[in-house]
Amino acid sequence: MSRVTILGAGMAGLGAAHRCHELGLESTVYERRTRPGGHTRSFVDASGFVFDDGPHISFTKNERIQKLFAEAVGGEYEVLQASVNNHWQGHWIKHPAQCNLHGLPAELVADVLRDFVHAQAREAGEIADYEEWLRAVYGDTFAETFPMEYGRKYHTLPAAEMSTEWLGPRLYRPELEEVLNGALSPATPDVHYVSHFRYPSRGGFESYLRPFAAASNLEQDKEVTAIDPKARRIGFADGGEIEYERLVSSIPLPELIPRIAGAPGDVVEAASRLACSTCVIVNLGIDRVDLSGSHWTYFYDHDYTVTRASFPHMFSPHNAPEGMGSIQAEVYFSDKYRPLDRQPPELIEPVVDDFRRCGLIEDGDRVVFQEARLIPYANVIFDHDRAPALEIVHSFLDDVGIRYAGRYGLWGYEWTDESFVSGEEAVG
Ligand SMILES: Cc1cc2nc3c(=O)[nH]c(=O)nc-3n(C[C@H](O)[C@H](O)[C@H](O)COP(=O)(O)OP(=O)(O)OC[C@H]3O[C@@H](n4cnc5c(N)ncnc54)[C@H](O)[C@@H]3O)c2cc1C
Repeated sequence: MSRVTILGAGMAGLGAAHRCHELGLESTVYERRTRPGGHTRSFVDASGFVFDDGPHISFTKNERIQKLFAEAVGGEYEVLQASVNNHWQGHWIKHPAQCNLHGLPAELVADVLRDFVHAQAREAGEIADYEEWLRAVYGDTFAETFPMEYGRKYHTLPAAEMSTEWLGPRLYRPELEEVLNGALSPATPDVHYVSHFRYPSRGGFESYLRPFAAASNLEQDKEVTAIDPKARRIGFADGGEIEYERLVSSIPLPELIPRIAGAPGDVVEAASRLACSTCVIVNLGIDRVDLSGSHWTYFYDHDYTVTRASFPHMFSPHNAPEGMGSIQAEVYFSDKYRPLDRQPPELIEPVVDDFRRCGLIEDGDRVVFQEARLIPYANVIFDHDRAPALEIVHSFLDDVGIRYAGRYGLWGYEWTDESFVSGEEAVG
């Protein structure tokens, strides 16, 4: 029997603690913040609005995790059929746009169809980057008009500077017939990779994690500042020190590596090359419920500050006071490619202007709640540096016996369920 020390109390850290509990292993979770949850925290305002740390829904297909989460909220969760759309140059387009071109300018549709047919007929050859993938799958016009534009806003860099490892089911690959049907008819089947999702009825997404935090041996306000893998000691910002036997970390790799005594220069340098986006979320409460028919919307135009908007009051009616609606806007930056150039609250006004311009906020509507929050680690950026740098970093951690888990330990695109499972697996 050995004691397990776990760093970080998000999905991954609490997944690790849960596995320890199942195996009868003693464990302690150290968290730098004064509350657990990591990215799955929810903020409940006294006025009754509930916002998550970025929009969070559960669409896991893992039945064991579905059951665990359902039990965690005592069976009180909403099950919703996802409705998603896009906003482009004044048009509201059902998602994914490639299957729903009906109503767009005829010239654009003709160009998209022509290029799509050409792309299908062409031998793609070896794909070197995301831009080549987009052109090969969708044809030039669609690639340039939609995903390349959106990607620049969301990932903060041009598609040619990204790899394709992260794609998975994220971008739908239609057959010609689906593209033609969507160009000719407004009624198309739903093909988004999230068809249904679940969301806790009360308390925001964080409710899924609360019982796991309560069941763990949790030390909060304990920021890890130093790890000595030889002496097996950890130092904290408050001056405290502990010894560890087995260590599982979910601390973001660029922060973890410089804290490890004896980390070689090339490993520290590799960790500094790992890029991720920073997200500013703008949370708005509006005195109207029927703001949108979709749960979330992608915004493509570069003269719109917002990249994606979601409507938390549609995830659960308890996310907003009665008769009110809510919008959460995401705006993306990254230290490496598009540094944040202003204070988060300065983004509230341009975002509200966006919503007035596209009609989501109407003339008579009142904004009754507004705030902006910074999410320093949002999405890992799959640039061409990532894979080689990650190999160096992970093999160093393997050598010094530090196990890593979660979105920012694996440095991938893990969703909440995958982060939780990665924590469990890191325990073994
Ligand atoms: C905008 C956005 C939207 C998302 N939407 C969804 C969604 O709809 N559905 C979904 O399933 N997933 C979604 N995700 C992904 C999801 O948030 C992650 O998969 C998951 O929360 C990651 O959990 P984690 O434990 O790996 O990391 P985190 O939640 O970041 O946990 C890491 C913990 O480590 C702590 N820590 C860091 N440094 C130290 C230190 N030095 N000492 C001690 N503690 C430290 C942090 O405070 C944090 O609590 C979204 C992510 C983002 C950014």
